[in-house]
Amino acid sequence: MRVVYPGSFDPPTNGHLDIILRSSKLVDKLVVAVLKNPSKKSMFSVDERVDMLKELTKDIHNVSVTSFSGLLVDFCREIECKTVIRGLRAVTDFEYEFQIALTNKTMDEEIETLFMPTNTQNLWLSSSVVKEIAIFGGSYDKMVPDIVKQKLEKKVYEGGFKDARIH
Ligand code: ADP
Repeated sequence: MRVVYPGSFDPPTNGHLDIILRSSKLVDKLVVAVLKNPSKKSMFSVDERVDMLKELTKDIHNVSVTSFSGLLVDFCREIECKTVIRGLRAVTDFEYEFQIALTNKTMDEEIETLFMPTNTQNLWLSSSVVKEIAIFGGSYDKMVPDIVKQKLEKKVYEGGFKDARIH
């Protein structure tokens, strides 16, 4: 089975990586797909996010990383993939994820969405929280892989957070 894991990944966190690692063991091929969304302000460019994800997944043989714009269902058709995986944290994720999944299903009934629950240690972890901590100089060592930490530190140092979407 080929599966797409779409998201913003701004930046990738240990929560994302955990979903990638666990789901890659269940599928033949996992396509991690960074959404190009011009209406969402981001800290990292799409290329930077793709590069970080490529570096983080370089040793997982069945994972590839790409980006897409437009509707997820159109991207799925383009790459001939009918299954989407999304991570679920607290119940608060559920309503939003359920809505998106049903909307995608309404647009293309062949697309199925699978949900994978987070690990308990990543329950409250989000890219937004990590960015906020980074900007205010707190410690987020346990929340992101080292290479992401280095890029975040550089971004904050360079003032790249000014355009970031924190909330
Ligand atoms: P989006 O803007 O599409 O929600 P995100 O990068 O925030 O993009 O999230 C991508 C996917 O990863 C979503 O399914 C989200 O629920 C999941 N995710 C984010 N953080 C975690 C986490 N800590 N544990 C498990 N899944 C997560």
